[in-house]
Amino acid sequence: MPELPEVETTRRGIAPHVEDREIVEVIVRQRRFRVPVPSDVEESLIGSRFGELTRRAKYLLLPVGERTLLWHLGMSGSLRLARVGDQPRKHDHVDVVFDDGAILRYHDPRRFGFVDWLAGDVDTDTRLARLGPEPLSSAFDGDRLYQLSRGRRAAVKPFIMDNAVVVGVGNIYATEALFLAGIDPRRAAGRVSRERYARLAEAIKEVLAAAITQGGTTLRDFVSGTGEPGYFAQRLNVYGRAGQPCRRCGAELRQIVLGQRASVFCPICQR
Ligand code: ZN
Repeated sequence: MPELPEVETTRRGIAPHVEDREIVEVIVRQRRFRVPVPSDVEESLIGSRFGELTRRAKYLLLPVGERTLLWHLGMSGSLRLARVGDQPRKHDHVDVVFDDGAILRYHDPRRFGFVDWLAGDVDTDTRLARLGPEPLSSAFDGDRLYQLSRGRRAAVKPFIMDNAVVVGVGNIYATEALFLAGIDPRRAAGRVSRERYARLAEAIKEVLAAAITQGGTTLRDFVSGTGEPGYFAQRLNVYGRAGQPCRRCGAELRQIVLGQRASVFCPICQR
């Protein structure tokens, strides 16, 4: 599933090629997604230009005139650049064609993604309005985690994966950040000290920033239009390493299920 770093890398990869270019054609080969492609997308885009692309959580925002398109990659979606004449492959569902021959091409085998108009603005659209802060912004820090967690008995791992607390902390990043901060994922969120939350917030920023940096090395893939996006080859300390030795202390890493998600941790380093 594309996580926040992949979505941010997508934004950086496509922005220079699609911003402020005249849209000359829109080809929708499949309209049935989690939300159907709005019937007026073709008519609204042709002859217009996208303004500055931004991102909120895992949503890409593409302003066009007075409105904004909201694009979500779902479980298996990707946005890539192609050129006029590049034949669409299976599952290439939407093409936005620009006057210089570039194509913004949406590929999504499982069709859990969608493209839709933003309802109002980012503060009023129900999909975005209740989201917590961006993890790499100054609005997110250990104090926020500490304040929101007081009295909460739920485990700390699902707590930091809650989009109302902070957006974009998927399973990989939560697992890795808890290891770096030395916090047992099962610990009650309300029983983590302010100091340890400060360390955890820093660890979350660190793992996400590292993934985005890694993604930067793949930016040229957006222009070539070939290849599938994958997870960045980040060195993982615990995620996917159950049963293997902890890189720090050598103890065997354990796997449990928390909030229906697999969680790997070191029983010695994480308390
Ligand atoms: Zn360890």
